[in-house]
Amino acid sequence: MSEKRIETVCVQGGYVPGNGEPRQVPIIQSTTFKYATGAEMAKLFDLEAEGYFYSRLQNPTCDTVARKICELEGGTAAMLTSSGQAANFFAVFNIASCGDHVVAESSIYGGTFNLFAVTMKKMGIDFTFVAPDCSESELEAAFRPNTKAVFGETIANPALRVLDIERFANAAHRHGVPLIVDNTFATPINCRPFDFGADIVTHSTTKYMDGHGSAVGGAIVDAGRFDWFAHADKFPGLTTPDDSYHGITYAERFGKEGAFITKATAQLMRDFGSTPSPFSAYLLSLGLESLHVRVARHCENARAVAEYLLTDDRISWVFYPDLKDNVDHKLCEKYLPNGSCGVISFGVKGGREAAERFMSNLKLCAIETHVADARTCCLHPASTTHRQMNDAELEAAGVSPDLIRLSCGIENADDLIGDIKQALDNL
Ligand SMILES: *Cc1c(COP(=O)(O)O)cnc(C)c1O
Repeated sequence: MSEKRIETVCVQGGYVPGNGEPRQVPIIQSTTFKYATGAEMAKLFDLEAEGYFYSRLQNPTCDTVARKICELEGGTAAMLTSSGQAANFFAVFNIASCGDHVVAESSIYGGTFNLFAVTMKKMGIDFTFVAPDCSESELEAAFRPNTKAVFGETIANPALRVLDIERFANAAHRHGVPLIVDNTFATPINCRPFDFGADIVTHSTTKYMDGHGSAVGGAIVDAGRFDWFAHADKFPGLTTPDDSYHGITYAERFGKEGAFITKATAQLMRDFGSTPSPFSAYLLSLGLESLHVRVARHCENARAVAEYLLTDDRISWVFYPDLKDNVDHKLCEKYLPNGSCGVISFGVKGGREAAERFMSNLKLCAIETHVADARTCCLHPASTTHRQMNDAELEAAGVSPDLIRLSCGIENADDLIGDIKQALDNL
C-alpha cells in the first residue's frame, strides 16, 4: 500500500522513471516481446518468471496504469480490462462457474444486471438480487450453499443508491465468500471500499477515471486479504492445481495478495482476450493524473445544480445522496464524506413526455449514453440504457419512467443552471 496521499498517487503513482527515461508513461505498442532463448520464454509461459511475452495477456503500459489504480484503491494487485463489462465479468467468473450462485444488489448498472441475469445465467450461474436496503433476514435468505460471491456498487448507476459496504461485507464473510464492489461512480477519491471490508474492487475506467470520454476500459483490484484456503472447497479454481498451467495452485504460489489477479490474467485474459490497447491505457493514465481535481469539481457542480433543482417548482423530485433528505444520506455521510459523485437524477413535472422535451431543449448539456465526462451530459434511462428491462425490473433498479440522469461536468455551475432554466422555460 502506498504511503503517499491520494492526490500524489493520482499524479505520480504506478510509474517511477529511471535516470534518463521518459517522464511520461511510455506507450509500448507491441504485441510481442523478444527473447534470446526458448528456455527463457518457457519460464514466462509457466509463470515461473515475470516478464512479457504476448500483449493479449499482459503489456507493460497496461500494467503500469493498473499499478496506479492499485495504489489508489490500496490493493495488492490489479489488472486492466478492455471495458467495465469485462472487469465485472472477469471478477465474478474468476470464482463462480456453472452450477454456482452469486448474491447481487438489485440497483446495479443495467449493463451489469443484464450480464448477470441473462448472459451469465446462460452459462449456468444463478444470481439472487436483493434490494440495497433489504432486511437482515432477506439478505441471509439470499445465500445458498453454492454461493461464491456478493456483488454491489458503491453508488449505483443510475439509481444512485449507496451501498452499505460494511453490512454486505460482513454478510459475505459470514458465508465464507468475498464482496466485490464496483467503485466506478465514487472513485477511490471519494470512497475506498477496501477500508470498509470489500475484497475485490472493479471499475469502468470509461467514466471518471478516464474522465474525458476518450477510451472505454475497466479495472479489477484485489485487496489481497481474502483467505481462499480457509474456504478451499468453495474456490477449487484457486486452491487446486490448474492443469492448463502445469499444475500451478494459484493461492499457494501467489498468496492472498496475488492469486486472484494472476488467475484472472493467466486463464481469463488468455482465453477471452479482453485486453485494452496500450494507447487506451495511456489515455486512462492521462485522465488519472487529474482525477482528484476533477472529482471534487464534478461534486461541487452537482451539489449546486441539485440545490437549484430543489427550488424550481417545475421539477417534481430530485435524488442526490448528498442531499439531507435523501434515503441514503446517512450512508453517504459514512462512506462518502467528501461528496458522492457528479451524477444527479430528477423528474420534470409532466412525466415521460415532458422529460424528453426538456432534454431536447438543452444546449450545453448533451444527450449521451455516457456519464462522468468533463462535459455535462444527460440521459433518459427508461427509453435508452434500461429499455431491456420490464417495469418491475425498472422499479427494482430504482429507475422511474420520468427519471432524467444528469451527469454534471466540470464547467461553470451557473452556466449549467442557466441551461436547465432555459430548457424549462421553453417547455
Ligand atoms: C458504465 C458502467 C459499467 C460498464 O462499463 P463499460 O466501460 O461501459 O463496459 C459498469 N459498472 C458501472 C457502475 C458503470 O457505470
